[in-house]
Amino acid sequence: MQQAPQNDPARQGMSAEEFRRAGHDLIDWIAQYLEGCEEYAVLSRAAPGQVRRSVEAPLPQQGESWEAMWRDVETRIMPGLTHWQSPNFYAYFPANASYPAILGELLSAGLGVNGMLWSCSPAATELEMFVLDWLVDLLALPAHFKGAGVIQDTASSASLCALLAAREQSLAWRGNSAGLAAAGERLTIYTSDQAHSSIEKAAMIAGLGRENVRLIRSDDAGAMLPAHLEQLIDADRAAGCTPCFISATMGTTSSLAMDPLRAIGAIAARARAWFHVDGAMAGTALACPEFRGIADGLELADSFCVNPHKWMLTNFDLDAFYVSEPQRLVRTLSILPEYLRAAQSDQVVNYRDWHIPLGRRFRALKLWFVIRSYGVEGIRAHVRRHVALAARFAQRVREDDRFELAAPPSLNLVCFRLRAGDAPSEALLRRLNESGKIHLTHTKLHGRYALRLCIGSPRTQERHVEAAWALIQSTAGECSS
Ligand SMILES: *Cc1c(COP(=O)(O)O)cnc(C)c1O
Repeated sequence: MQQAPQNDPARQGMSAEEFRRAGHDLIDWIAQYLEGCEEYAVLSRAAPGQVRRSVEAPLPQQGESWEAMWRDVETRIMPGLTHWQSPNFYAYFPANASYPAILGELLSAGLGVNGMLWSCSPAATELEMFVLDWLVDLLALPAHFKGAGVIQDTASSASLCALLAAREQSLAWRGNSAGLAAAGERLTIYTSDQAHSSIEKAAMIAGLGRENVRLIRSDDAGAMLPAHLEQLIDADRAAGCTPCFISATMGTTSSLAMDPLRAIGAIAARARAWFHVDGAMAGTALACPEFRGIADGLELADSFCVNPHKWMLTNFDLDAFYVSEPQRLVRTLSILPEYLRAAQSDQVVNYRDWHIPLGRRFRALKLWFVIRSYGVEGIRAHVRRHVALAARFAQRVREDDRFELAAPPSLNLVCFRLRAGDAPSEALLRRLNESGKIHLTHTKLHGRYALRLCIGSPRTQERHVEAAWALIQSTAGECSS
């Protein structure tokens, strides 16, 4: 390789030697951070605008040293962080990072490949196809999803792509050509009142309109009521609408409730509507045979998505999206300017036609590393440990009569509240989060406030959950007095 002259402005920034040194230090720092991150207050205490003010500086005219930048990370960025990898993080859903995943991410950055076409880097496309087939085996997904997977950034994007394909299928692909107004049909969308907000957002983006989203009622646990779905479909048909898309949730965001997929799939088939299943969080549990009952009926689905970036040890972002007969997706999203015409396009998959952006990162590496590094048994053990810890926590809640479960505990999530009501429960959550010792979030279930405790960090041990419960109990004492 030729050495660039020292005064070449393009070579300023960092030399290979500096990169090596800083990189080794950074890897050491990350390992130390992850092993020690329970020492930090979980929830950042930064006030709005504080971080921005602390990093404000004139635009640098000359390059700065890594040491200067790193000092600012430690003094200005760290105080503005909420520590998602902390064993005491129980908020939202987890966003696991693991060492093999981090190395995959780093390698992907180092290779700097854009895998929009197969020919842009055959390995990027072919590894992705292969790893997504492995995921079908790992999760025991229906066989029709073999060879039919694509990595998306998030479940939100996956559900949007599913809805776009459903829309075009309903309109015989006239929406893309003539526009929705000319296509002249009123398409309706069905999901439960517990579905993730990304479904409604997809309806907005797809031009179908929020008013055409029907929210199906759910039962006490939060699972969709198929009889209500059927009623609304009949009513829409009678009113001249075309049922287009039914999205069921395998593990709702509020309470990890499981929609009855088999019953919903049968209704979708009768209605000739696209049947999508959103398994963003709970899909990872399918690695364990004992949890596969939640996927009963999944073989009826046209599409399915799961986020390894939540619970499968793969750092954000990586959503796995499967579409039966993927030609429907490709026909919906493909567009072919001359500069992207490529040879062999009839023999290979060009993933640019499977999602919204053109360019794409080489994300498959990190999932490949995770699956190989943990193995099926390692991933199962990870899931089972969290489910067992959540069950034990739920038992503690049952045993304290100041508390009640707000929904049946599901997998690694427990929703609970103070019997004293919404205001004391809200006060409890606020104090817990202010303590810095644990971080939880809340939801509303059938109009009532509930705290959510989701166990998902590979570092969360029994002692952490026991300490969390002890803190919740003592803080509850302060809230009700
Ligand atoms: C988290 C979640 C989503 C959104 O996930 P993103 O990948 O952030 O878009 C969608 N649906 C369900 C059920 C979720 O739990």
